[in-house]
Amino acid sequence: MTARWFPDEMPVPAASAETVGWWEAAAAHRLVVQRCTDCGRTRHPPGPVCPRCRSAAAELAELPGTGTVYTFTVVHQAFIPALADRVPYVVAGVDLDGAGGVRLVSNVVDVAPEDVAIGMRVVVAWEDMGPELALPRFRPVEEGGT
Ligand SMILES: [Zn+2]
Repeated sequence: MTARWFPDEMPVPAASAETVGWWEAAAAHRLVVQRCTDCGRTRHPPGPVCPRCRSAAAELAELPGTGTVYTFTVVHQAFIPALADRVPYVVAGVDLDGAGGVRLVSNVVDVAPEDVAIGMRVVVAWEDMGPELALPRFRPVEEGGT
């Protein structure tokens, strides 16, 4: 059992033919990024063709799971009733290490919102929302390790 930060009532993301591999990796707690195998360009969310060279050849490359907060906001409004006891929470754009500039929009957890800062080092913290769905949240990298 992994940690939980958000309630079961959160809307479930929809997988498509292009993104199902990414979601399957996430369910196995593997953070990956789609990479063009012709020119090396990374992209997210996964798509059918490379935006640089138009190649359809791609792979899912494993990432170390660390990153840097590029930007963030603090949400004070409970947009669904189930979030009433979860606000305020942080939504951040995380610059993923080893991802060629790809950023992921997610949450920074296990830290007070007022202590989150641009440039903060973070590491993925998987939240199992169900047997086949895990979402990558991020928590601050602790001093001296992760
Ligand atoms: Zn390409």
